[in-house]
Amino acid sequence: MLLIRRQQVVLLSLYRKWRPQTFNDVVGQDHVKTTLINAVNSNRISHAYLFTGPRGVGKTTIARILAKAANCKDPKKGEPCNKCSNCNEMSEDKSLDLIEIDGASNRGIDEIRALKENVKFTPHTGKYKVFIIDEVHMLTKEAFNALLKTLEEPPSHAIFILATTEVHKIPATVISRCQRFGFTKITVTQTVGRLEKIIKEENIKAPKEVLRIIATYSDGALRDAISILDQAASFGNKTISTEFVEGILGIADNKIIEELIQSILTLDSKKSLEMVNSAIEKGTDVSLLVDTLINRLRDIMIVKAGDENILTDYSKEELDTLKELSQNISIEKLLEIIEKLSDAKQKVKFSTPNHLPVELAILEIGKKYTTPREENKEISPKKENAPKAQTQEKPMKTNEKIALAEHFSNKKTEKEPHKEEKNPDNFPLDKSFFPVIKNKWNDILNGVKAYNHSLIACLKPSKPKRIENGYLIISFDYLFHKEKIQNVNNKRAVEDIIQKIVGRFVPIRCVVKPKENRKEVEPTILDNAADIFGGEIIE
Ligand SMILES: [Zn+2]
Repeated sequence: MLLIRRQQVVLLSLYRKWRPQTFNDVVGQDHVKTTLINAVNSNRISHAYLFTGPRGVGKTTIARILAKAANCKDPKKGEPCNKCSNCNEMSEDKSLDLIEIDGASNRGIDEIRALKENVKFTPHTGKYKVFIIDEVHMLTKEAFNALLKTLEEPPSHAIFILATTEVHKIPATVISRCQRFGFTKITVTQTVGRLEKIIKEENIKAPKEVLRIIATYSDGALRDAISILDQAASFGNKTISTEFVEGILGIADNKIIEELIQSILTLDSKKSLEMVNSAIEKGTDVSLLVDTLINRLRDIMIVKAGDENILTDYSKEELDTLKELSQNISIEKLLEIIEKLSDAKQKVKFSTPNHLPVELAILEIGKKYTTPREENKEISPKKENAPKAQTQEKPMKTNEKIALAEHFSNKKTEKEPHKEEKNPDNFPLDKSFFPVIKNKWNDILNGVKAYNHSLIACLKPSKPKRIENGYLIISFDYLFHKEKIQNVNNKRAVEDIIQKIVGRFVPIRCVVKPKENRKEVEPTILDNAADIFGGEIIE
């Protein structure tokens, strides 16, 4: 999420504003909250805690609330009052009795020695000095040893709260000195509930679908979910549409995912490839697309195995859809499809174009199960999406080749010829502006990369050539790349990014190098496809 990281300064606002100030206000982690409330209530606060669990689920938030409750002058039922001077100082990050250390940037022995010196001094205003060490697994071995000595004999006024996402990296000697709490991911339902509360209070307009998309994407990290909501709201002027949030997150809309799953399960490779292509054209991030597919297939497998009660994040209708999808496929076949896609996922990062491994996986799955030897007995012939092997006499091998050829010939762009848009700037683009664009070309590429990984794969090998008749001419080696960028949505996205970087609208026109003109697709795609289908390619 490059986009989000760049906006972090702005993003912190909503997250900070909505950071819970009491245990009960924290979403989830009920067992942790109950135990800590009881500890504060009965005055039995430990001197060392270890909070483990995924990022963004509330470890440091609860640590801060515990620090506040321990030092509160008037705690109520184990909760900080949030009114006394000690509470206020902590809420405003002004307390000298709350020391937060980032283990990632203070990982050496010197930092821990300094901490040990600090521990000796009594608290300024409160009863306890609280040391929160976040990402504690990053400490060096020597630093851990130094810390261990302090944990073995802590002064009565000190509380250590160690937080980590990687508990296996913490020495057992340190773990044994701490009271340990395991934090869990926040469920989609819980995240949606929190986001609903925030949008209501902040007057942000967003349908529930948007909140569900954000919640699913943030994968249990409420902090990320709130940051995404904040970013989307500030871009959209407090109104967030489904399309917009899918766009900034680079995720495919649910309809595409459902159709894609349907076509994968019915082994309709042609349709599957079309769906993948259509998702990518809409700016879907390939890694996320594969993740979503794998997760959805896994859930279908769970439904198939009769364990649907563990899938708490789906609505009744969604569960029914999963059940329907699970009926015509065996668990073995599902497993194999998931494995193939998982393998493809590993290769996505290193491939150009990066969706190639996914397409090859789909073709391999289709090929394996539609060869004459293994008919698809599990698939009902009445289904509209049933593979053509059952209705056509042509051997599937040829069928698959046609599907592949059609897929890569970009029929869609031929049918809907791209209309050149008029330059909306008052002043047409002048040739003298070319050096500005050329100088900023790397920034433009980085901008496109942050926007969409599959787009950058096509744009990176291209070159800005000149300005002609008010258009920036970009030259491509391969027709495939050119057509990808020329697609209306992609072209607009690239033009938007250029505008942001050079400060004016620059209409682009894509051309292919003349001598390469005859090439239809990248050689690597055909080579790989030819490997699968025994070395011949049908034109
Ligand atoms: Zn208080």
